[in-house]
Amino acid sequence: MLRQFAATSVSTVIDHVFPPTCLACNARVAAASGLCPTCWKTTYFIGSSACQTCGVPLDGAEDGDATCDECLTVARPWHKGRAALAYAETGRSLVMGLKHGDRSEIAKVAGAWMARQAEPLVAGPETLIVPVPLHWSRQVKRRFNQAALLASVVGRELGLEMQDSILRRVRATQTMQEMDRQTRFANVSEAFVVPPRKQAKIAGRPILLIDDVMTSGATFAACSTALKGAGAGNVCVLALARTVKFA
Ligand SMILES: [Zn+2]
Ligand SMILES: [Zn+2]
Repeated sequence: MLRQFAATSVSTVIDHVFPPTCLACNARVAAASGLCPTCWKTTYFIGSSACQTCGVPLDGAEDGDATCDECLTVARPWHKGRAALAYAETGRSLVMGLKHGDRSEIAKVAGAWMARQAEPLVAGPETLIVPVPLHWSRQVKRRFNQAALLASVVGRELGLEMQDSILRRVRATQTMQEMDRQTRFANVSEAFVVPPRKQAKIAGRPILLIDDVMTSGATFAACSTALKGAGAGNVCVLALARTVKFA
């Protein structure tokens, strides 16, 4: 009781000094770790009507038994995939906030949304959560890896082990924002390896690979190929946000 009282007073003091702001746009909000009403309206959650492989919203698909046209034509070396949000409006602001500011409070909320989508992707309690790594030079500059922040929240929410040193990015790849699909795949192919001393950790184990955004799927494909080549079991992928084409 006393502890609870003390904790409440501290948070009241903190709220007074640092009034809670919207995770996406910094407008003042009533409670910490939330979105303002405007940002809620433009947060597009992806439900169960989605491609079972890449998580793109798919009309009429129920319980993840459908595959989109893109996944029928592009090699997807992973088993199943999901995303929590469309990469648009608030989804995009949250990804940018995670990437460019040290906003671990975004990871807490976004990682919980991702965990809710993860059920069809988790093969059992031995499933290992692995974030897509940054190249060390970028991590030094940015000081943290946003995918690892999300992965540790997802791991905590699901009660699964998370390891952020399973994959290493051995080539500093170019930023992919302006690239077409073919260039994206070429840019990251063979950019990831599993160091030999990490291979025993993943041998035969199901892996849930985590990233902030899935665009073409090139990064997930390169990581999945590296993991499977190093002896991992089933690989599934989970992104906070998935690029979508709005009709
Ligand atoms: Zn807002
Ligand atoms: Zn798909």
